[in-house]
Amino acid sequence: MKYFSVRGTRDILNEEALKLRYLEKLGREVFSSYGHREIVIPTFERTELFTRSIGEVSDIVEKEMYTFQDKKSRSLSLRPEGTAGVVRAYIERNLYRENASLRLYYLGPMFRYERPQAGRYREFRQIGAELFGSDNTRSDVEIINVFVDFFGKVGLKEKNFKLYINNVGCESCRKKYKGIFTESMQKNLSNLCVDCQRRFSKNPFRVLDCKNKQCRNYIENVPLISECLCQDCKKKTEEIKEYLQDLDIKYKEDPYLVRGLDYYTGIVFEIKCGKLGAQDAIAAGGRYDNLVKDMGGHSVPAVGCALGLERLLEVVNSEKIDLPIKKELDVYFACLGERALARGVDLAGGLRCNKVSCQVDYNEKSLKAQLKEANRLQAKFTVIIGDEELQKGVVILRDMEKEKQKEVKPGDLMGAIRGDDKSTSQGRVEQRELGNS
Ligand SMILES: [Zn+2]
Ligand SMILES: [Zn+2]
Repeated sequence: MKYFSVRGTRDILNEEALKLRYLEKLGREVFSSYGHREIVIPTFERTELFTRSIGEVSDIVEKEMYTFQDKKSRSLSLRPEGTAGVVRAYIERNLYRENASLRLYYLGPMFRYERPQAGRYREFRQIGAELFGSDNTRSDVEIINVFVDFFGKVGLKEKNFKLYINNVGCESCRKKYKGIFTESMQKNLSNLCVDCQRRFSKNPFRVLDCKNKQCRNYIENVPLISECLCQDCKKKTEEIKEYLQDLDIKYKEDPYLVRGLDYYTGIVFEIKCGKLGAQDAIAAGGRYDNLVKDMGGHSVPAVGCALGLERLLEVVNSEKIDLPIKKELDVYFACLGERALARGVDLAGGLRCNKVSCQVDYNEKSLKAQLKEANRLQAKFTVIIGDEELQKGVVILRDMEKEKQKEVKPGDLMGAIRGDDKSTSQGRVEQRELGNS
């Protein structure tokens, strides 16, 4: 074996691929039902788009981006998340003109150089939703609701996930808090890790993201932003809590939930699933009222959220949720001999026009071997054609689950596969008729 998949990537096939596609399809339906329209954004962008929007001293930008130079020596990066690209498109395409409160969703692979672990890959898929143009707290709650709704439709129960919320404050709150925080942290700066010391000089709040145990001790003794919120921010938090209650969405306030303070303004939230370990958020988002303006656009408030599809799939599997995935193959054609093959190819073509999936075997194996193959492929039906059937002008249609078979005229094959009662009885009539002729 010469070639192996790159660490942190994986091949998704069979049932897992079907489940993933199902989740994507369901996601599209749920997001559309709230008025979100799909935006397909590029997989790579100029590196500075991400450094500017996500923040230069964030983990993502510092350690996790796949950055490369193209042949014209431009620095490009594979997208580590979707919001930056969506905001770029929003500004570049003047989307604010289109709709006063534009709702967009995106779906696709993201790339981060992280330590691979269960449900976490270096290439992973996200569904994300953004709502531009409204600073009403009802839109924060709607974004949360879209995701909670989606989880419910996937089949997750309330006990399977938990919503955590926090308010990281408006610009003036943060200005005030920055003073308090910096002063308090400064005293302990020499006790913090090297990363924190370096980050502190560039953006003090980045220290809040540090996972180092010793750093956490100091961080947890600093006053919290929730203790420093202005009247307006406090009011907004109360509104959000009230609206969540109205929707019967359970939540927990987590004052340590920060999600990179320089990006978000106001409410931030995470949805965590117990089975994935305490650290693992399956979806995360928040309000970012300054990002569009900071990136060169108009002053447009916005709120958004994204969820990891692989992680969701992990939860679906561990909770043993049965997704209604369609068996891939409707009909397997087991043809014996060259003439039978020609007939099989012809019939399969007709069925495919009626959206019946067909696979024809060309390897001329024995009937037994072909039926075994059909079972392995989980085909719903096998159409068997041999010399005898050719002579009689029929085919044998075998229901693989019921393990029953009958002769069917080629013209009635479609009806018999669909399970129309008419054709089932016809099948028997034909058998008799054929016997008489
Ligand atoms: Zn405030
Ligand atoms: Zn640290």
